[in-house]
Amino acid sequence: MHNWIPPDRFFPYLTWQQIAQMPDKEKVVIVQPLGSIEQHGYHLPLIVDIAISTAIIGKTLAQLPSEIAVFSLPPLPYGKATEHLDFPGTISLSTNTLSSILLDISHSIYRSGFRKLILWNSHGGQPQILELVARDLRNEYRDFLVFPFLLGGYRRCEF
Ligand SMILES: [Zn+2]
Repeated sequence: MHNWIPPDRFFPYLTWQQIAQMPDKEKVVIVQPLGSIEQHGYHLPLIVDIAISTAIIGKTLAQLPSEIAVFSLPPLPYGKATEHLDFPGTISLSTNTLSSILLDISHSIYRSGFRKLILWNSHGGQPQILELVARDLRNEYRDFLVFPFLLGGYRRCEF
């Protein structure tokens, strides 16, 4: 299930007790890889965006010293890809659906005691949604740092 993500960095492999007893949880970084299932020209498959996102975070986490606590959530393969819907095979979430999914995941992460979340995105059709979600979460919680990160073009929410 963990794919390129090192098993000891894959959030779902933890037990709830490991999370409950995790020290300094507010300093632990949680990463949500994001992508899209969409057309990529004549020569590439639909999986490109989420494959890039998952591979880069996986290879990055593999090089981190173990004392730096970072865990990756399961990659979310679907994104907002309305710009590609004329191409067969593209699967797009609506703005509201993607926002709701990200908010629900973020609320759950916060409720588990974590205070740092990176939205690790490799799809150019959705950074605006990530920024708005991050801004709303920051406004709601004040002590919750949510960073939208766009591979290939760094963008960050201004708090
Ligand atoms: Zn894309």
